[in-house]
Amino acid sequence: MTEVQQHIAAIRTTLPPHVTLVCVSKFHPASLIEEAYAVGERDFGESRVQELVDKYNRLPRDIRWHMIGHLQTNKVRQIVPFIHLIHSVDSEHLLATIEREAARIDRQVHVLLEVHVAREESKSGFAPDELQALLREPLHERYPHVVIDGIMSMATLTDDEQEIRRCFTCAHDLLQHLNAAGTPTPQASNGSSATLSIGMSDDYPIAIDCGSTMVRIGSSIFGERIYT
Ligand SMILES: *Cc1c(COP(=O)(O)O)cnc(C)c1O
Repeated sequence: MTEVQQHIAAIRTTLPPHVTLVCVSKFHPASLIEEAYAVGERDFGESRVQELVDKYNRLPRDIRWHMIGHLQTNKVRQIVPFIHLIHSVDSEHLLATIEREAARIDRQVHVLLEVHVAREESKSGFAPDELQALLREPLHERYPHVVIDGIMSMATLTDDEQEIRRCFTCAHDLLQHLNAAGTPTPQASNGSSATLSIGMSDDYPIAIDCGSTMVRIGSSIFGERIYT
């Protein structure tokens, strides 16, 4: 087993079966993705469109690609044909762009709404009250080619477990709100329970405690990233 494969095996033993593992491969070479693929991983997360498209073209077609980074509207067209899930929808303008591009090729695109619950101003996403206002709109009528699977969120970068828990609980509560929003009911791809994408390398056990259904883990699998 390679180091990457050992890391995956260790993480897998800690994940409940209902939690999807997204291996965050951004800034890492395709060869490391192949090592993860060889032990059965199929969900990979990237944060930059160019890198995502390059890897999509080089790697096996049954990989499910997740866009987890900030997405510029002028780059939506490049990923809409193949993307499995866009986690980082942080504005209605982006939602409208995804709708237009998805309609153009007659594809349904699955997304998560990113909500900002952390203390840092630098993080993106809808504010909780903005999200609640958005959910009162007839989203399914307005964006028929966009399927809202759930919510993505990031906790404050801190060692304070109570603060991390506060963030994730807030995201979880908003997901309940999304589920309860009678009309429109965003259609979850996996049946009734919507997706809650919370938890990264340093905080995913807390996220699982708070109801995560999808964790996005990078450095604990692939090692430290060298930003270029
Ligand atoms: C990079 C990134 C991750 C993975 O972070 P690690 O700490 O390396 O596990 C998860 N989610 C998002 C949105 C990211 O940008």
